[in-house]
Amino acid sequence: MAQKIAIDENGYYGDFGGAYIPELLHPNIEELRNSYLDIMTKPDFQEKFKLLLKDYVGRPTPLYLAKKLSEKYGAKIYLKREDLNHTGAHKINNAIGQALVAKELGKKKIIAETGAGQHGVATATACALLGMECTVFMGEKDMERQKPNVERMKILGAKVEPARSGSKTLKDATNEAMRYWINNPEDTHYIIGSVVGPHPYPDMVTRFQSVISEEMMNQLQEHEGKNNPDYVIACVGGGSNAAGAFYHYLNEEDVKLICVEAAGHGVDSGETAATTAKGSDGVLHGSKTLLMQSEDGQVTEPYSISAGLDYPGIGPLHAHLFKSKRGIFKYVTDEQAMQAGVELSKLEGIIPAVESAHALAALSQIDFKASDVVVLNLSGRGDKDLQTYINHGSY
Ligand SMILES: *Cc1c(COP(=O)(O)O)cnc(C)c1O
Repeated sequence: MAQKIAIDENGYYGDFGGAYIPELLHPNIEELRNSYLDIMTKPDFQEKFKLLLKDYVGRPTPLYLAKKLSEKYGAKIYLKREDLNHTGAHKINNAIGQALVAKELGKKKIIAETGAGQHGVATATACALLGMECTVFMGEKDMERQKPNVERMKILGAKVEPARSGSKTLKDATNEAMRYWINNPEDTHYIIGSVVGPHPYPDMVTRFQSVISEEMMNQLQEHEGKNNPDYVIACVGGGSNAAGAFYHYLNEEDVKLICVEAAGHGVDSGETAATTAKGSDGVLHGSKTLLMQSEDGQVTEPYSISAGLDYPGIGPLHAHLFKSKRGIFKYVTDEQAMQAGVELSKLEGIIPAVESAHALAALSQIDFKASDVVVLNLSGRGDKDLQTYINHGSY
């Protein structure tokens, strides 16, 4: 019998997960681990969270039958429209959820780290909404590269703190955020933006994003008279939109779970973010998982045209989906993703985020039957990527 896909009480999915953290961070993580499930499962918490998702975020997001895309790929293809969420992607589901948990814990301040700035903007939004003080740590180099998002965060009332050490990018911002949290455990909560980091973050973020597959089930029931599709397809950076889209199907063996990673210039080009193809077991950002590293354990610089997929690891749930073969992994290059993004724009009138375009490009790698029902999680919209589309040209 196939093994059940679930997290155990120590925060492991099979071989992956756990909490590999410095001693100084133990009090913060212990507090969260001891209380997150109690808080999240309380009916009045759920009520508050669901009401904000409905009236503020705009959920449920539509499940749209994309007729022309379906015709082209020879299956019945639905798009789960996470691109229609407030702030333009799925990240807001988790940012609001964690800000609410922080309030329940009596925290007044929120910190976060951001690379491209999307998680920073979602966090700054949640903090404005809930009246919490917000500091976002960001590498100085990333601040230059992502100016519009820096300004968005500031307009929303957040403080953006430049990380000036090392390569002045995401890794350095993470270090600064950790250091700040160690020194301010009492009044501060740290919002991590994907299903990565030490336990309980991967599980907490997965649960907040699981609203995606909860809605899919109800919507498929309406459209198709059944809860389960034949395929769910999602792009994987850290893995949060995929974890949310897969959650209620993890142990439904008839549903194939397709995880799409960014191959960058090609899986074997040396410029890639295809973690499961090139990675090996190790510890990254506080959990045991798959990551790209050199023989002596130095984390390899990842590359993808898409800032959201440009990550050297993958969450422990996805590492387990890969090892156990429950997940089917596909790799999509920059070029293939850009073509798929332009194709969706012309066929359906939807300009997708470049991250989501990777999921779309995987459609041509799958041998569908005409009767197959496919749900593709369209994680975000392409407004933020206009310059990337312009630079790419060919449209
Ligand atoms: C951040 C982001 C991703 C990648 O993050 P996951 O945690 O893997 O979901 C994917 N799509 C969009 C639109 C994003 O903003």
